[in-house]
Amino acid sequence: MEVSECAYSEPVLNAHLARSREYCMTRPMLINGEWTLEGLSETIEILNPATEEMIEQVPRAGSESAEKAVAAAQEAFPEWRRTPAAERAALLHEVARKTRQHIAELTRLLTQEVGKPLPENEEELEWTINTFHYYAELGRHDRDHVLPPGDPDPFNFVLKTPYGVAACIVPWNYPLLLMAWKVASALAAGNTVLIKPSELAPLSVLRMAELAFDGLPPGVVNVITGYGPEAGEPLVSHPDVRVIAFTGSLATGQRIASLAGPEMKKLHLELGGKDPMVIGLDIDTDTAVRALSYAGLLNTGQVCTSTERVYVPRERYAVFAEELADFVSSLRLGNGLQAGTDIGPMIRDHFRQKVERQIDAATSSGARLLVGGNRPGDLDRGFFLQPAVLVDVDYSMEIMHEETFGSVLPLMPYKDFDEAIQLANDTPYGLGASLMSNDLRLVKRFYEQVEAGTIWINDPLTDNYAGPFGGMKMSGLGRELGQEGIDEFYEVKHVHWDMIGAQKDFWYPYD
Ligand code: NAD
Repeated sequence: MEVSECAYSEPVLNAHLARSREYCMTRPMLINGEWTLEGLSETIEILNPATEEMIEQVPRAGSESAEKAVAAAQEAFPEWRRTPAAERAALLHEVARKTRQHIAELTRLLTQEVGKPLPENEEELEWTINTFHYYAELGRHDRDHVLPPGDPDPFNFVLKTPYGVAACIVPWNYPLLLMAWKVASALAAGNTVLIKPSELAPLSVLRMAELAFDGLPPGVVNVITGYGPEAGEPLVSHPDVRVIAFTGSLATGQRIASLAGPEMKKLHLELGGKDPMVIGLDIDTDTAVRALSYAGLLNTGQVCTSTERVYVPRERYAVFAEELADFVSSLRLGNGLQAGTDIGPMIRDHFRQKVERQIDAATSSGARLLVGGNRPGDLDRGFFLQPAVLVDVDYSMEIMHEETFGSVLPLMPYKDFDEAIQLANDTPYGLGASLMSNDLRLVKRFYEQVEAGTIWINDPLTDNYAGPFGGMKMSGLGRELGQEGIDEFYEVKHVHWDMIGAQKDFWYPYD
């Protein structure tokens, strides 16, 4: 099997990658427990965004592969569903344990294909591993429950049953984490899964599947690679796929909803955002500057919950903007594999161009760029862009109402907290929102009045395994993580059982 030659063990990684480029090796897909390239002649080149070099190729799958993967998952479902929850839990813990054994290798590979710095990928691996542990345990005890009866005789209970085959469609910015949030909960609930990683970053998902999913029965997890319309849509449209768990852009989410809606499939959509951060009057500038830089520039601003709009009290605005610009210009751009890199490249040039277009349009309409927004002169390869701070922005500018998904911090002043809340809510999205303040009255108003699925006070972008994550308004449907995350993968059945079985006086005839 060609994949065995593709072992990414740490000492041989670079040699392997060089060989892989030389022989144009293609990493196979996982269908029904087999690594396969069968029937696949076309491939997709996966680039390292820091060097623009090809790392490896993956198959460009289409509906034929999707059909085989669905059939495998469908066949595996009855047995997996019947597997005792404690056994499924043990298998999921094993996935986590095996992933941990290869954490260094997976962290490096993730850095190579996504570009974000090593510490951010170490964090992603920790989260991925612990998500499997978390849902292993939740799936073990989260079962059916008995209800208090409405009348004395009937026995009422609720059954939670898996849907069957779940398609888990994942973006490129957190390929393992966002896969784990779907796959761990879907499997723990007794579903079988099809994973469709992004065509921009499928390698770490394929490698983790090879290293960690091998103990699962064939067909329980299948991975197919390819472009969304070619490899993703056949999964979404397939009649045997009953639940679609998707993370990605609003436009793709709308397309998926239009395909799945008429079939009444269960839809779980984690979409884009335009998250605000409100800086309180009371918070010290240095803390706020550092918190904001992290919230807006983590993963080069390519996080669904990146802070993309910043509201600062009018009386602090000028000083705050200046200190922010100083701090942002001190951050180091570079290859994520190099120690000391704060900010890596963007994933591809066309994402960088979108950010540049938004900055240009804003500055042409009167915004001022305090720092950044240029391609760095000292890095001649890679999709780098210097992080930017923009002032004098307003809502007529695209940068204040469309998702940017890049490292730009646009600042607007506010006159009082009513205005700050009104501005924070002035968006069709509702994914996350942050406040930097220790004023308890403001904190309470903020979490009660701001429309967002996650509210962060003084600690932006920190998640909790038990805390439901997802969006309001155009940011999506459903929640990942926590009890809510596993509930997305259950059909709920209420059983009303009259154990006496006597005739009822409210049955016909009425007279
Ligand atoms: P994308 O929508 O382009 O792609 C996401 C996935 O969907 C990829 O695997 C892609 O191949 C697949 N896809 C594309 N078209 C499809 C189709 N017609 N049918 C089925 N599958 C299809 O998004 P992206 O560029 O990979 O990711 C960036 C976007 O994801 C941003 O908008 C970001 O805000 C969003 N995002 C949201 C969250 C969240 O939790 N809400 C998290 C991360 C990213």
